[in-house]
Amino acid sequence: MNLDTLPPLRDVIHNHDLHAKKALGQNFLLDLNLTGKIARQAGDLSQCDVLEIGPGPGGLTRALLVEGARKVVAIERDPRCLPALAEISAAAPGRLTVIDGDALAINPAEHLTAPIRIVANLPYNVGTELLVRWLTPQQWPPFWQSLTLMFQKEVAERITAKPGSKAYGRLAILAQWRCDTRIVMHLPPQAFTPAPKVSSAVVHLTRLDEPRYPADGRVLNDIVARAFNQRRKMLRASLRSLRPDIEDLLNSVGISPTQRAEEISLEQFCALARAVKP
Ligand code: SAM
Repeated sequence: MNLDTLPPLRDVIHNHDLHAKKALGQNFLLDLNLTGKIARQAGDLSQCDVLEIGPGPGGLTRALLVEGARKVVAIERDPRCLPALAEISAAAPGRLTVIDGDALAINPAEHLTAPIRIVANLPYNVGTELLVRWLTPQQWPPFWQSLTLMFQKEVAERITAKPGSKAYGRLAILAQWRCDTRIVMHLPPQAFTPAPKVSSAVVHLTRLDEPRYPADGRVLNDIVARAFNQRRKMLRASLRSLRPDIEDLLNSVGISPTQRAEEISLEQFCALARAVKP
């Protein structure tokens, strides 16, 4: 058996009785043309190791291998999927390592060699938590080169949002400070089995070697958290607890104290962070 002669995913699901479990956020992609398209959004995989979270029955895993990934390390929490993934492993000898466990509790770095790309169709709650972790490592640059991740459409829009939009907030600033971000695909609910209630989108994030503008990450994060926690308030009110002289600081970096968080660009937030902690 090689990758081209593996059975269709519907048969895999039937043969291994992989009925989707809601608690594990299981909405599978069964169309290999579609998983191929997602895998290609991750860029040239031929010289890369790929970390996949939540391979499930392996539709995206197969695509990553077909697209030439040097090696795929896949972390799956549902042990029912392991026999199906073992078939893929046998069809691509030495190129797929499956780790049985919770991606939130596992550090996969020791199994991977740079350059590393991360690709995943994940349950949405786990996806956001992992994204925040991947964007806030102890050291920058992180262990990965790029992230290609499926999200609920609204979350994808929050990651790529620009100032002035409703979706603009902490996630946009966190992601865009350190990465180029792009929505590369939209998927309707019917693309998945079973179909979720919401639409989805794939976001591609490419890390920058240095953050886009200089700033202390903790200070920036603190400012942005305060500013967007009370996003309808003027900054002089939402940031008052940060520093008693906040109005002067805002003015010193060209931000009007009466502006609101969603009007402030990433560059301006970074300038404010530097004014707070030079
Ligand atoms: N990648 C497959 C696909 O595209 O068809 C499956 C996608 S399904 C949305 C999410 C997968 O993530 C499921 O197989 C589920 O069991 C797995 N999963 C859920 N939580 C996980 C976790 N914390 N760690 C690892 N895998 C997890």
